[in-house]
Amino acid sequence: MSVHPLQLPKYSIGVGDRFAHQAKAQLAACIRAYEQGTEVVPVWNKSNREHNIIGSGPNETRAAADDAVKSLHWMRPYFCDADHINLATVDRFVYACDFFTIDVADNIGQTPDGAAIDAFVERHPELNGTIEIAGIDMPLHLDEPSLRAIAGKYLAAVVAASGIYRKIAELKGSGNFVTEVSMDETDSPQTPVELLVILAAIADENIPIQTIAPKFTGRFNKGVDYDGDVAKFTNEFSLDVAAIAHAVKHYGSPSNLKLSVHSGSDKFSIYQPIYDVITKSGAGVHLKTAGTTWLEELIGLAEAGGDGLALAKEIYSQAYDHREELCGPYATVIAIDPSRLPEPSAVNSWTSEEFTSALRHDPRCNAYNGSFRQLLHVGFKIAAKLGPRYLDLLKANETVISRNVTDNLYTRHIAPVFLGKSWIDRS
Ligand SMILES: [Zn+2]
Repeated sequence: MSVHPLQLPKYSIGVGDRFAHQAKAQLAACIRAYEQGTEVVPVWNKSNREHNIIGSGPNETRAAADDAVKSLHWMRPYFCDADHINLATVDRFVYACDFFTIDVADNIGQTPDGAAIDAFVERHPELNGTIEIAGIDMPLHLDEPSLRAIAGKYLAAVVAASGIYRKIAELKGSGNFVTEVSMDETDSPQTPVELLVILAAIADENIPIQTIAPKFTGRFNKGVDYDGDVAKFTNEFSLDVAAIAHAVKHYGSPSNLKLSVHSGSDKFSIYQPIYDVITKSGAGVHLKTAGTTWLEELIGLAEAGGDGLALAKEIYSQAYDHREELCGPYATVIAIDPSRLPEPSAVNSWTSEEFTSALRHDPRCNAYNGSFRQLLHVGFKIAAKLGPRYLDLLKANETVISRNVTDNLYTRHIAPVFLGKSWIDRS
């Protein structure tokens, strides 16, 4: 362990930059928050799948982040996240990244090694019965069969996370990177008591996680608002926060351990509850907003008019033609109503204003079309195929695009989640 292990600050925002052209515009949003007195550090995240679709690599993400930090004189921490890696995909990220999201969702439900459940239950008598947790009115409760069931469901995933963590630690040196464990890309949410058991198991394996991404109740569709019961989410989120504080105190989890909210962009209806819970409890949070920036590039191109608008229309048209193939891999994280998708021939006659108001996520605007937005969200593959045609227009329209990127990230995400400033007047 290094003398000073690398620490993720209390508030952090995951920013994805599919085409690695918006790092400065994204950082500008963090600078705006910092000038308002709140430190929210940027974490540039990009998964192996996204790199493969775009044809990029982690070194490009790192170079863009370093360059942005240098040119905007950001003196606070920042990170590059190897997003959703596993044992098979981690290698190419080891050099460029200092944050690793270890994805073990696929290992949930695998049968753990022979005596692992017995050993876990024996090691954790405190989890068998009533569990008093500070900040929770009703204590949590587990009997032995339910404790064994939870251990049986998650222990193999924790062991898998341990193997991946140890591989990274061997290559980078422990303490030289931030570790997150993610279990969000699965069908059923983890309850707070499951989270507590998972945290105990992770502590047993000595994985110094600083963030954990459970799957929360409700749907977190890409680039659109939360779809679920807000009161239920709020209760679960606050119980999760209390479970984490409990793990820090009783299992020696790192003191800055916090929740990571994946697919966190545009979840406007839960931002105020998240802000309320974290400010009341003093907890930190990591909010991931990966795909939003690419949509702001499209909005910027459409706003620019001319070639930019024409290309945005062309991308929609191609995305529409390939909608099944584009949506397939994202089926569990999108909810597109096909009848709401406009015909490309209709879109081709749209003005800049018509295109941007359909795409820009403003729930107050009647023209906003969540299905149109989600299809384009998963349509970055089309832009990737356009190669220099797309990238050249990004450069040519940098001013209008970066204004949209910064404003979206700051006004619609950072300000409500971390500063408690809502931009939607719901009255
Ligand atoms: Zn995720």
